[in-house]
Amino acid sequence: MDEIKRLHELTAELKYHSEQYYVNDAPVISDYEYDMLQRELIALEEKYPSEREADSPTVRVGGRVLSAFESGRHAVPLESLQDAFSFEELTDFGQKVAAKAGNDCEYVTELKIDGLSVALEYKNGVFVRGLTRGDGIVGEDVTENLKTVRDIPLKLKSPENVIVRGEVYMPRAVWSELNKKREENGEALFANPRNAAAGSLRQLDSKIAASRKLSIFVFNLQQSDRQFKTHSETLEWMSSLGFVISPHYEIASNIGEAIKTVEKFGEMRDGLPFDIDGAVIKVNRLSLRKELGSTAKTPRWAIAYKYPPEVKETVLKNIEINVGRTGILTPLAILEPVFISGSLVSKATLHNKDFIKEKDIRIGDTVKIRKAGDIIPEIVSVLTNKRPEGSVEFSMPAVCPSCGSAVYYDEKEVAVRCPNASCPAQAVRNIIHFASKDAMDIDGLGSALCEKLYSEGMITNIADIYTVKKEDIARLEGLGDKSAENLLQSIEKTKENCLSRLLYALGIAEVGAKTSKIISARFLTLDAIMSAELDELMKIDDIGPATAESVVSFFASEKNAELIKKLKELGLNTEYKGAAVESRLSGITFVITGTLPTMSRTEATELIESMGGKVSGSVSKKTGYVVAGEEAGSKLTKAQSLNVPIISEADLLNMIK
Ligand code: NAD
Repeated sequence: MDEIKRLHELTAELKYHSEQYYVNDAPVISDYEYDMLQRELIALEEKYPSEREADSPTVRVGGRVLSAFESGRHAVPLESLQDAFSFEELTDFGQKVAAKAGNDCEYVTELKIDGLSVALEYKNGVFVRGLTRGDGIVGEDVTENLKTVRDIPLKLKSPENVIVRGEVYMPRAVWSELNKKREENGEALFANPRNAAAGSLRQLDSKIAASRKLSIFVFNLQQSDRQFKTHSETLEWMSSLGFVISPHYEIASNIGEAIKTVEKFGEMRDGLPFDIDGAVIKVNRLSLRKELGSTAKTPRWAIAYKYPPEVKETVLKNIEINVGRTGILTPLAILEPVFISGSLVSKATLHNKDFIKEKDIRIGDTVKIRKAGDIIPEIVSVLTNKRPEGSVEFSMPAVCPSCGSAVYYDEKEVAVRCPNASCPAQAVRNIIHFASKDAMDIDGLGSALCEKLYSEGMITNIADIYTVKKEDIARLEGLGDKSAENLLQSIEKTKENCLSRLLYALGIAEVGAKTSKIISARFLTLDAIMSAELDELMKIDDIGPATAESVVSFFASEKNAELIKKLKELGLNTEYKGAAVESRLSGITFVITGTLPTMSRTEATELIESMGGKVSGSVSKKTGYVVAGEEAGSKLTKAQSLNVPIISEADLLNMIK
């Protein structure tokens, strides 16, 4: 592929992952995969320096300040670290340092805690402000949330003016417990302790942050009135002030020794009660650090070694089949439990029949597994030399394990599907989805309770949720009058939910939470969506033909129409409650051409954007409307050739009345 094209593609891809990781606390790929893509981009940027984008993820620290918090400027920037994936790179680093300092140079090696960096500021020994790293220059002011972290002293043992830097993290056990509870409540799980810590620290309600039991290790003295010679001295001093400092750190008298500590930390990794993603080697002498200085993003006096992703061997005991909400049968590997990257793994996804065939995975096989995206374990390969005799190739079942209907192969989806719309497994999954956090958010109705209510015959479809009886729920094991009452109250409350939640909760294929919002904001009522034509839906930006078709065919089904009638009778809100007027043009792209009679182009653009619309410079099939004024040129011709509606300024004004 054209390398320059690849450079820009990689930049866009890494920006997306950076946003997912730093801003949304929800990474999609593993750190290792991210690091490898970043390396590829660095190499291309070195080859084509003029192509490097100004805000390339290789030169910017990734975080961004969320507007929900006040922002605060760091007195001392919070830099990132240069990284290494081999010991040779660490030796190279040592050589560069030696060029300035000679071979006789002390290093401190520390665990690289996998959390998020904060700066804590103390005035006269009192904790006054705490900021996240943000972009390194400006961070989010999360002081109130940090006050709930028990390891952070609110008052120091002596009245110092200091700023320290540390890593807020969530111990593995706390993370497992939190995810267990979230699973029970049907809430999205945190991919790893790091994301859980970041998500918790950025809660607007500090009571929630407090309930998450975060911890901190302090690893750097950013600013103080005192003078020190070495980093290790500052660590011990910070400890004497009451901080919990970077644990297990070791002083080495040369780079070789420091590398030995890195190896040792690697062996300790599994047994630690918190996640680390590497080890950091730092020059100990502070005057030398000053001399070495920093590049735009990272200091020259430190380097982070990142351990390779863990791959473990285990035995595949069985292959189970899950039937999803839309009837897709997904094979699931049941494994001999094995500890990997911080948690005990006993299941792994096998994706689909092609994945199993390609890797020739068989029951009884010894397999290598790793965590993909740091959360879902995946089989990397099969050790065929350890295959037990007489093992047979795996084939997907011919009938649905839940309802016994004959399954079929859906080529479009590359999946095996159960065709039975009333298949119990699908029905339960639909109910679980309907009640889940991002959908109707029914507090207390998690997956386990949905399954129970279904198996007891109390709920057979989503409408039944609103007619379930208190005495029936109270009879269930582990519940009782009080819980039943609470559940009914939270069910009742969701009748008032915005249309966008309801639309998502219906579980229409291809319609995720974001798409539901876009469609709801555009049509404002469920009735309008139900009668929307295919081309009306496709006019919306971000809605492709597959989604539009899926929406139309969902509402064309008599059974679904019946269900919606029932939901309406039960009193569920079917109107959009968001910024309706402001969103009148939401999802529509306009192109303005020529001179408009009363507005300048900038005014027209501002008007369209203030109503949620987008303005583009060129006409394509995706263009909703071309607003044409006098002396409109080639854009008008293009719009005509593509059959894009052409409107006047007056028409535009009518649309937003
Ligand atoms: P980094 O993780 O490479 O290293 C810097 C960070 O290490 C510091 O900010 C500090 O918070 C932390 N740290 C922990 N213990 C430390 C110690 N003892 N001493 C010094 N620092 C310590 O850099 P980064 O800029 O925070 O993050 C970049 C990394 O984040 C990437 O290399 C990648 O692994 C990960 N990332 C992943 C994704 C993804 O999609 N999975 C996306 C973006 C970034």
